[in-house]
Amino acid sequence: MSERIQLFRPTIGAAEKAALCETLDSRWVGRGPRSIRFEERFAEYIGVDHAVALNSATAALHLGLLCAEVEGQEVLTSSLTWVSSTQAILLAGGRPVFCDIEPDTLNLSVDDVARKITPTTRAIVVTHYGGQACDMDPVLELAAAHGLTVVEDAAHGCGGIYRGRRLGSLGDVGCFSFQATKNMTTGDGGMLVTGDEALAGRVRKLRWCGITRPTWERFRPGQPKRSWMYEVEEVGWKYEMNDLAAALGLAQMDSLEANNQRRRELMDRYREAFSGLDGVDCLASRDYAVSACYNAVIQVDDRDGLFAHLDACGIDSNVHFYPNHLYRLFRPYTTRLPVTERVWERILSIPLYPGLTDEHQDRVIAAVRAFAEGERRQPAAAG
Ligand SMILES: *Cc1c(COP(=O)(O)O)cnc(C)c1O
Repeated sequence: MSERIQLFRPTIGAAEKAALCETLDSRWVGRGPRSIRFEERFAEYIGVDHAVALNSATAALHLGLLCAEVEGQEVLTSSLTWVSSTQAILLAGGRPVFCDIEPDTLNLSVDDVARKITPTTRAIVVTHYGGQACDMDPVLELAAAHGLTVVEDAAHGCGGIYRGRRLGSLGDVGCFSFQATKNMTTGDGGMLVTGDEALAGRVRKLRWCGITRPTWERFRPGQPKRSWMYEVEEVGWKYEMNDLAAALGLAQMDSLEANNQRRRELMDRYREAFSGLDGVDCLASRDYAVSACYNAVIQVDDRDGLFAHLDACGIDSNVHFYPNHLYRLFRPYTTRLPVTERVWERILSIPLYPGLTDEHQDRVIAAVRAFAEGERRQPAAAG
């Protein structure tokens, strides 16, 4: 029996292990020097003034939307995204308004966004699906014309580029995820980036119970004047990143570019393999984007049949995503989204991660091809 092929698999090596051990040995495992270094380095990499390390992208989306003051207001968003993109809107007191997507990139349809702007619209959450940029210029124009805050959900987009600029640096707030499956991982973790100093300052406070001066700043070695006193200015959360996660993040940044390059190589191989295969479509790539290639999505008629076939071949796959507007929790905000509703039944994410070997990828390709060709021979027997 050949080895099972996972859908995602983090790239972790000696550098990550050493970084963790070093942090453990330092005995400062809470938020501290490594979190600060990670923030500085990440801000520089993305090309923004401020980065605030958090324990998830969900926390970044929540606090970003809270600072955008969406309470009681409408927030435009995609339905084909992870549920916390929508939950963050509700956590911040906003009302999600689902917009349809482009059928070939699965990114927000700017036309539908334009149609759904009302006098009570306050913000737009833009998910860069699969790490490929949404067409940001028209989104930013709409936002400027209507006074809307743009929050980028760049959970898939770490290292992705739109017209020469890194994803996350284009809107007012960018949110990154370092959850286990993402392009770089800290186990769990997130980062909020912004050019707005006041917003960054408020998020720094809200991430730790509304407290004004964190422990590291008051008690770090060499601190000339130690102090136990701090003020609590508003109700906050326990959303900060600890130094174990930050140490992993710093190590992961060293290999991010090379890993993303390998992701793009693998994506090109999938594209080439499926280009001549009837009934199997890859997503379209746009010339304004260099994708971070978070996941490899194909579209097929019998998606559930392919899922079962791959499973039987020892290959994991998954659906990203079940449309949010069809979940029971979000039913009060549901609407008709013809493209989303048609396309989600056809999408399947197949294995993609930097450590995927050409040989394993060839096994995935052969399994997809066998399914597609079998389908054509005996379509009636499917399922
Ligand atoms: C993973 C993901 C998130 C949430 O990230 P966490 O760090 O797990 O909170 C948000 N949006 C999208 C599109 C994601 O894929």
